[in-house]
Order: sequence, then C-alpha cells, then structure tokens
Amino acid sequence: MNVTTKIGVLVASALAISLLVQVVFVFPEIRSREFGLQQVRIQAGADTVASEITDFLDDIGYELEELARMPEIKTMDVSQQEKLLSLSVHTSPMLQTVSIGIADINGVVTCLESLKPAVIFSKAEAVGMDISDRDYFECCVSTGATCCSDPFEETPCGLMMAAIAVPVWADDGGVGGVIFAEIPIQTLAGMIEKRHLGEAESVYMVDSEGFVIAESEKDLTRLSGGPFGLDYSSYSVVQGIMAGQSSVGEYEYDGEAHLAAYAVIVPSGWGIVFQKPLEVVMAKSRVLPNFLLGINAAVFVTAVLVALVFARRLTNPIRKLADYARMVERGDYTAALDVKGGDEIAHVSSTIKSMVRQMLAMREKELAAIVNSMKDGLITLDQKQRITRLNPYMEQMLGLRAAEVLNKTVSELEDDPRLAVVARLVQTESPDEEVVLAEPHERVVKVHSSKLKGGGDKDLGEVKVILDVTKERELDQMKSDFIANTSHEVRTPLHSIRGFVKLMLDGKVTDPETQHEFLSIIDEQSQHLSNLVSAILDTSAIESGEMTYAKQPVAMNDVIDKALVKLQSIAEEREIAVEADMPGTLPVVEGDSEKLEQVVTNLVHNAIKFSQKGGKVRVTAEAQNTGVLVQVTDQGSGIPASAIPLLFQKFFRVHGSMPWASSGTGLGLYIVKQIVEAHGGQVWVESKLGEGSTFSFRLPLSGNDKNQ
Ligand code: ADP
Repeated sequence: MNVTTKIGVLVASALAISLLVQVVFVFPEIRSREFGLQQVRIQAGADTVASEITDFLDDIGYELEELARMPEIKTMDVSQQEKLLSLSVHTSPMLQTVSIGIADINGVVTCLESLKPAVIFSKAEAVGMDISDRDYFECCVSTGATCCSDPFEETPCGLMMAAIAVPVWADDGGVGGVIFAEIPIQTLAGMIEKRHLGEAESVYMVDSEGFVIAESEKDLTRLSGGPFGLDYSSYSVVQGIMAGQSSVGEYEYDGEAHLAAYAVIVPSGWGIVFQKPLEVVMAKSRVLPNFLLGINAAVFVTAVLVALVFARRLTNPIRKLADYARMVERGDYTAALDVKGGDEIAHVSSTIKSMVRQMLAMREKELAAIVNSMKDGLITLDQKQRITRLNPYMEQMLGLRAAEVLNKTVSELEDDPRLAVVARLVQTESPDEEVVLAEPHERVVKVHSSKLKGGGDKDLGEVKVILDVTKERELDQMKSDFIANTSHEVRTPLHSIRGFVKLMLDGKVTDPETQHEFLSIIDEQSQHLSNLVSAILDTSAIESGEMTYAKQPVAMNDVIDKALVKLQSIAEEREIAVEADMPGTLPVVEGDSEKLEQVVTNLVHNAIKFSQKGGKVRVTAEAQNTGVLVQVTDQGSGIPASAIPLLFQKFFRVHGSMPWASSGTGLGLYIVKQIVEAHGGQVWVESKLGEGSTFSFRLPLSGNDKNQ
C-alpha cells in the first residue's frame, strides 16, 4: 500500500469513526430533541386555541352577566330590554359576532338583537320562540349559574350554534328570566382556522361528550348528525378532554398512529386536539440526521478526494526523492531531482542533492588524486566514445595537454594528425597489441580496456589503461644483446685459446719464443673469460643480495694505484696515456678494498676502451669535506645525452658509436653503481658526445676521519 492510499484510508477511517459516533450518539439525541420540539409545538397550538376560545366564551359570559345586572333587563320591560341589547351589540365588539336574546322564566324569548341577522336568524323569528327545553336554559334556571351549551342546530336558520346563558335575577331574589347569547360554531371554527397548521397537522374541536364540533379540512358549517357531529368519544385523547385534562400523547386515528396534543376549553368542557401522523413527526425528526448523513457523506467523499489529491501532492516529491535515491544507488548521478517549495521535503531534497554533490566532489577529488599519481597512462571515455579524462602521465607520454582531446570523439581525433595517436590508443582492444608512440620520445605501449557498467548493466563508457612497456622491450633487447655479446665475448677468446693450444699440441710450434708468446695469449684470453664470468657472477650476487663487503679502512691512493698497475698493459697496448693526479695521502674511507679496486678498474678500463688510440686518460682523487672524490676523465667518444640516464642499468650499452669498443657486457657500470652505493656513496657521469666523459664517484669518510 503506497503512502497516498494510506493517507486516503486514514482520512476515510477518521471520517467513518466520526460518522459512527454521530449515528450512535448524536443522531438519536437529535431525533429525540426534534420529537420533543414537535410535541411542544403542537401542544402550544392546542393550548393557545383552547385558551383563545375559553377567553372568548368567558368574555361573552362576563358581558352577559354585566347586562343581567342592568335594571333595564331586570324589569323585564321588553322595550327597555331591546334598547339596551341594541346598544350593547353596537358598542361591545365581543357581542357583535353573536345574537343576544332574553327569555322570560317560562322560556319564551322576549327580545333578540344581533348585528348579523342573516347568518343567525331574524328577530321576528326569535321572539316568541320557546327555549324552555334547551339545556342551557334549564341549567341556568335550575342552577342560577352561567351555563354553556354543547353545540346544537338552531331550528330557524339551520346553523350550528352554541349558547351561553346567564340568569336574570328578579327583585324577589329568584330567577326572573335568562339572558343568553347564541354563538355560531362557525365563529369558533374561524378561530381554529386562523391557526397556521404545520405540515400534515390537523386540528379538531370536540364538545363535552366527545362529538366533533369543528375539524380542519372539513366543511365546518355543515357538520351534523349524532347530536352534532362525529363521535370521537372513544379516542383516548378525547376521553382525556372529557375527563378535563390537557396533555399530549400518542393515539390511533383513522388506523394511523398520531402524536396528539389536547387542551380543554374550560367554560364549555369542550376540547381542542392538535394532531399529526407519527410517521410525519418521525420523518421530521429524521430530516436533520438524514441531512447530516448527507452532509457527512458529501464531506466523506470530498475529504477523501481532497486527501487523495493532497496525499498525491505530498507524495509526489517523496516519490521523486525515492526515484532519485534509486538512481544514485544504481550509480547514475546525472539524475535530476526537481522538488520545489519551502517545506521539509524540499529541504531534505536539497540536502540530499548537496550531499550527493559533495560526495561526487570528494570522489572526484580522490579519483583525480589516484589518476594523477598513476604511473600508467589512463584515458576514460563516455557512452558516446568521447574522451572524458586523460591523466597527467598520459599527457607526458603523448606530449600534449588533456584539454586538447577532452570531449572529442574518435573521428574528431583522427582528423587531427597530432591527435590521431590518441584515436589509435582508444581503438586498440587487444592487450597484446603494442602501439608505438613516436613523439615526444619513442615509447612502446600496451592498452588494457575495460567497460564501465552502471546499475542494470547500463553502459557508462570505457576505461583505457596504457602501460609503458618500453623498458621491458629495452630489457629484452639488452638481454638478447647480452646473450649475443657474451657468446661472442666467450667464443672469441675460446677460439683463440683452442687455436693456439691445437697448434702447440700438433707440435707445429717448436720455437720456445713463439710458444711463450702463444701461451701468453692463451693466458690473456683466459683472464678475459674469467673477468667476464666474474662480472656475470657479481651481477648475479648483487641481484640475489648475496654480495658481501669486507669493509675496513681503505686508502684510496693504494686502491687507484693497484687498478692502474693492472690496466697498464692494456693502456700501453692501446697507446693510451693513463695519468694519476692525487695527493700523497687521502683520508681513509671505510670499504672493501677489492670491490673499490673493481670500481676504479671498470671506470678506467672503460675510459681506455672508449678512447681513440693515442688518447689520454686522467684519474684524480681529492679529499672533500665529507668524503673522497675520485674522477676518471677521457677524451674518447663521449656518450649521447639520451643514454646517460640509462647508463648504470644492467646490460645497457650504447650501440654503434664506438666500433673499436664493440665488445662488452653492459654490466661494468651497473656493478660500479651497486658497489659505490653499497659504500654509501654516489656515482655520476658528465659527458659530451665526441669530446669525452668524466665518471665520478664520491665515498663517505670513515667515522674517525669525519671527526677530524
Ligand atoms: P661494457 O663496457 O662492458 O659494455 P659497461 O657497463 O661498462 O659495459 O658500459 C656500458 C656502456 O656505457 C658501454 O657499452 C658504453 O657504451 C658506455 N660507456 C661506458 N664508459 C664509457 C666511456 N668512458 N666513454 C664512452 N662510453 C662509455
């Protein structure tokens, strides 16, 4: 599961939990509050209407009582009564909606006034009417109290009426008559109709026996039957009213459960019922939770979408970072990391980038240090075979600067005659193939190639290591020269020895003088062979570290003298004058006199060998502060400058320039250098081609002489 999905799931879970909490705890609470509100609302409706009608009936009763107390009424004088009633219906707003009449003690109506005769009945019809059997008249006469009737149909007009009757007291203290008001039920129904009913809400009014007086949504003026209307007395709420209670509760109406509030109209004992199907009440109480549920669902979907978008935006840079890290892990440092913004991820990205940069810089430094200090040539190429690196050693070998070849392809290099050799090196695949570099010095090189692979075997280019095998080739050459020379050196004296021995064995040389001469030659050639073998053995001993030095205080005068005496005959033979120039005594050096004699012998012998006939060789020795300096100078062939650095190497010989001195092993100067250095000294040469050479060596003084 990736981070985006995780954030999406997290947000979805949080919202789901919130929804669950709402469904379990909040929604029932909302529902019960809404139900309570609905209860209160309809109860308030029922109470208000009941109290309005109560007030209306009370007010009329009060007005009638006021009138009953009037003398004009008490006299039971019809004309006076008429006057007062007329005045009353015109002045009292309360009485304008009703008909007021007076009946004598026998129940005969004596007068009647009404502002709206059309809706009630006319005075002519009323006067003389007998109401003695009407309940309100009977109640009033018998109880002497104000009585309110249940609705009844008024015969002359056929309208539903309710009446309030008040006794008129005669002067003798008895009831002298009744003053009554007939109220059209329509007026009361109008008071109910004024009510604004809520959705699916209905209201009805019942009389004290549970018959419907008025009901919303019904033609109230035409109610008839029973005594007055439908019989609702079996309803629990109506029974509540009949018991004089006001309350709220659930009950069955038309086969449907209803929430009903009922209130008693006190003066008449009637009641008002406000009701509403329970279904509607509950639907109402479900609206808010359902609405909230809808909002929650919308919030859920929006929040999850926003979370996903946000998570995507959040994880995008993280994904880029991860991709970058993967690329770096695979070794691809060229990958781009583009994370913008000022947040933590951008900060981490720039830190990682700078870490990678620093790491690359460090690696580059290390690599450069390694490559620059390499004693082999190195060329690196990128995937497109362009030169990306050429180390200083390679620059030196080729005699050109890296900048001249960097970023160039093989074909570009081939186009430039100076750089063509680099193209040749780059194209050489076999490590056995040898390439000859002509400039600036002739060199023989071999090329080792290896491919650079990145992560996933990605081609990153190639590395070429160029090995300088010039020395090996020279060594090979020297060895073959040595074998050729040594065989020649060995064969020549051997031939001469065998030739002279054979002559003598054959008895062809009888002359003692000639025999002596031949034997001397044989001796000389044997000596030469012996020297040759000694040189080879010395070299071998030096190489294997077996050369030993019997060091003791040595006077260099003696050493030089001995060497010169040994070489005297050779010098004379070659007509070379060898002269020595040194002080009578020289400071003592610590050394192996035989080995040091060999040093002087080799140097003087070379000086004689490489001088022309009649030449001069001078040997000097002098004391210096820290040692004794011995120099051998000749006026011979001299040595080419290019050969001087190689002169003291094994088997090195300068070819061609000295045909008269073609014999030799190339070991003499090597042995000289090894012996001098084993004595803590140095040897060197200064030479000019065609003018001669000076070979010098300096030996350190022995401990005692140093202190002097
Ligand atoms: P060898 O003399 O047996 O060839 P060395 O080691 O003594 O071997 O000398 C090596 C080479 O150095 C010689 O072959 C010669 O070319 C050169 N060389 C040595 N001494 C002299 C000299 N005094 N003058 C000119 N060339 C010299």
